[in-house]
Amino acid sequence: MGIPGVSQQRAVSQPPAQAPRESVGQHSLLQSGSRGSEVANLQQRLSQAGYQVGQKGVFDAKTDAAVRQYQKDKGLQVDGQVGQQTWGSFLGQKLPPGTQMLQGGQAPGGADPTGRNKDSFEPGGAQRPGGAGSPAAPAGTGSAQGPAGAFPASGSNKQKLDWAMKTAQAMGLRITSTTGGQHAPHSYHYLGRAVDVAGSPATMAKFYDLMHNTRPTELFYDPRGGVKNGQDIGAIGGHGDHVHVAF
Ligand SMILES: [Zn+2]
Repeated sequence: MGIPGVSQQRAVSQPPAQAPRESVGQHSLLQSGSRGSEVANLQQRLSQAGYQVGQKGVFDAKTDAAVRQYQKDKGLQVDGQVGQQTWGSFLGQKLPPGTQMLQGGQAPGGADPTGRNKDSFEPGGAQRPGGAGSPAAPAGTGSAQGPAGAFPASGSNKQKLDWAMKTAQAMGLRITSTTGGQHAPHSYHYLGRAVDVAGSPATMAKFYDLMHNTRPTELFYDPRGGVKNGQDIGAIGGHGDHVHVAF
């Protein structure tokens, strides 16, 4: 980093040309009952955005209502939890729900050797293919033909997921997780939109390729790669022994 030739100089009297970029990594997960300066910071941002908050520094019922209204208005996941998606929104960044990018970010329950806590993690958000400037095709609108019939591209997310599960079973894969198990706090699993399937590596690869044609919301199988919101993002890790797909 730095500009060649001037990197040794110290600008003493001049203000920095650019303020240090604020990131969600400087913030922590806030929710009902949280207290402190981070809550005051949040409340200030909400107030500036026109929302009425409660007692300063206390994530009270009024603040909770403001957060939920803000999330609703911004098209974010409405859960009253101020995680990376909501913090990101205040900072002008579009991030997936979750807490991994936050200060000390880790899913509740500690390290997850299965890597499933990464299910909703979008690595390198801004650098992913098809980022700003290139309009992304809507996720889940591709076409695919499998042993369970044609992909219901115009169906509901539930119909799409049902099709994926039937396809997996018809291919001889077993479903290892739907809405249960250990996942990131805001994983699509808890929304009933994700399924994990497992079987032989060759069959998982075939399943991945078939699901890939549907441009799903999420698709992770490390040996093959990864998809987020219909876009290829490469392997994210932690998905070597199962395929995760979400619509
Ligand atoms: Zn999963």
